[in-house]
Order: sequence, then structure tokens, then C-alpha cells
Amino acid sequence: MARLALAAGLTEAANVLRETGNRLVRAPDLVATAAGSRRPKRLRARVLVLRDERGAPVASADDVEPALEEARRVLRDQAAIDLVPALEPMVATLDVHAPPEALDSPCAEGSWRADFGPGGAFFRRFGVRGPASGSGAPITVFVVRDVLGKAGCSLGPLVDYVTVDGGALRGRTKRVLVHELGHACGLPHSRLAENLMLPRRMGDRLESWQVAVLRSSRHVTFR
Ligand SMILES: [Zn+2]
Repeated sequence: MARLALAAGLTEAANVLRETGNRLVRAPDLVATAAGSRRPKRLRARVLVLRDERGAPVASADDVEPALEEARRVLRDQAAIDLVPALEPMVATLDVHAPPEALDSPCAEGSWRADFGPGGAFFRRFGVRGPASGSGAPITVFVVRDVLGKAGCSLGPLVDYVTVDGGALRGRTKRVLVHELGHACGLPHSRLAENLMLPRRMGDRLESWQVAVLRSSRHVTFR
């Protein structure tokens, strides 16, 4: 357990450095976006569906597609960001049994401790790896059986993965996938009605400062 916690801590610390370095390098981009620039950028992602103890996927590609389509639409329309596959196919099912800590993933406020246990180790092992600089690092979306008490979870820029609840990919919470990508790219929650970052009832709008933060994330690049 101590070894897992150390690995998680080192990864998180490295990501804090990557985030800080990339934010500094991208400051001109932040200013340009705040001034209205919407030159197309891209965000690489991969969606990996977990299998339960019996080997059954917790969701099908058809379950994931509406949430993915909504993510593409919101990012394109609100921020001129193309959501592209980090690897083909964009949606795949993992061929291994996931540990219970990953299948049923805790996400209490500030509960980044889960990342220090077997769940976090599993997500780090199977997530798509990015370059050492962190620039253009893909985000892996793990579709889990249950994000306990929530529809999805992100530790913000600390890790390169997010989790979404396989049962929450349609209806009122269909924007959970793009909402979690927003967190991973540095966006906090919003209280504005219709805003993407409103908890639970996510809308599809972004304020211009949110667009600037999103577009200057280390995950988002011109090429
Ligand atoms: Zn949230």
C-alpha cells in the first residue's frame, strides 16, 4: 500500500510541475483566447470501459456514444476544441478484470486519497501515457460501474484520467463526460445556470474566462 501511495504521490507531484510549466508557457495563449482568438485546438482522449468481476463490460460502446458526441459538440461550439482519439478506437473495453476499488470508485469532495490506493494504481497502469513534458497529454476516461454518490470524478490537473459512471451517460447527466474533461483541464465548478461546470445539472455553456482556462490547459494543443 505504501508503494502505491508513493507512486501516486510522485505522479501527482510531477503533474503539478507539468501543469505549472505548461500554464506559464501558454500564458500568451491564455491572453489571446481572452482577447477573442478561437484558432482551432485539439484535445486527445480515450474512453476505456471496465469489466466487472464476471467479465461483463459495465457499459457498451452505444451507451458511451451519446456522451462522447455531446462532449465533441460542446468543446467545438464553445471553445473551438476538437476532441480527437488519443488511440483508435476511441472507445475500447479493457480485457482485464478491474479491482473493486476501480469498479466502484469513491469520489467524496477532496477525496484524492482514492488515487493513492489500488483504484488509482489501476487507472495509472491502463491510462494512455503522455509525453514527459505533459504538453498535449491525452486524458483517459474510465467508464466504471459506479462513481459512488456521483456521476463522475476528476482530480483536476493532478492526474491524466477521469472516471464516469456507466449508468450516468445519458439523460440529465449525459454531459458528465465533458464536465469531467473540463475539470481535468483546470475548470472549477460554476454556479451559473446552463453552465457546463454546474454540478449535477450540467449545462452546455462556458464563460469566456472558462474558455481561456480550458484552451490553455496542457492537454489542449494546436496540433
Ligand atoms: Zn464536477
